[in-house]
Amino acid sequence: MKLKSVELIGFKSFAKKTRINFPTGITEIVGPNGSGKSNIIEAIRWALGEQSAKNLRSSRMTDVIFSGSQSYPALNRAKVALDFDNSDHFIDTNYTDLQIARTVYRDGTNNYYLNGKPCRLRDIQDLFMNTGIGNGSFSIISQGKVAQIFKSKPVDRRFIIETVAGIYKYRSQKEIAANK
Ligand code: ATP
Ligand code: MG
Repeated sequence: MKLKSVELIGFKSFAKKTRINFPTGITEIVGPNGSGKSNIIEAIRWALGEQSAKNLRSSRMTDVIFSGSQSYPALNRAKVALDFDNSDHFIDTNYTDLQIARTVYRDGTNNYYLNGKPCRLRDIQDLFMNTGIGNGSFSIISQGKVAQIFKSKPVDRRFIIETVAGIYKYRSQKEIAANK
């Protein structure tokens, strides 16, 4: 499974429709301060179902909508679409090309889409559950998170390592079984 591209329309600083392709290998995004690098990562996090404005450096969820600049008026909607190559079926669905998308309007309405069809947030969460990619996983590490990991207590750091390694779910299953 591989993230092929991200398309942003009206998300944070991306007023105009912008498509960012990730070719095979490692992609590095460089640019001056404030040019929108972190916004791209936040767009991915948001499309995967992020529900915390704080994790998006915002106070309200609707703050992700482009708020206007000298050259462009504010918009009423933000949309982000993620295209995945799922030909290895790492994500448990029949789709080999998988697109998930999210929109939000100024009134706070959120819509989610799976390959163009409206779906629930729950459907997106279920798809990415236990893949190590979804919301709350450590596949996206923000600048603040790095410091947090370094400063965390050994037991908390162990939790992070076990989660990343995919061991944690077995530990919790073991605990559930032991308590039965
Ligand atoms: P750095 O190198 O400092 O980390 P960066 O490239 O990661 O910078 P971002 O933090 O992604 O930059 O982008 C910040 C820019 O996005 C700021 O100029 C900010 O005004 C703009 N921005 C954030 N939210 C919105 C919004 N809703 N509407 C318009 N612009 C926005
Ligand atoms: Mg940044």
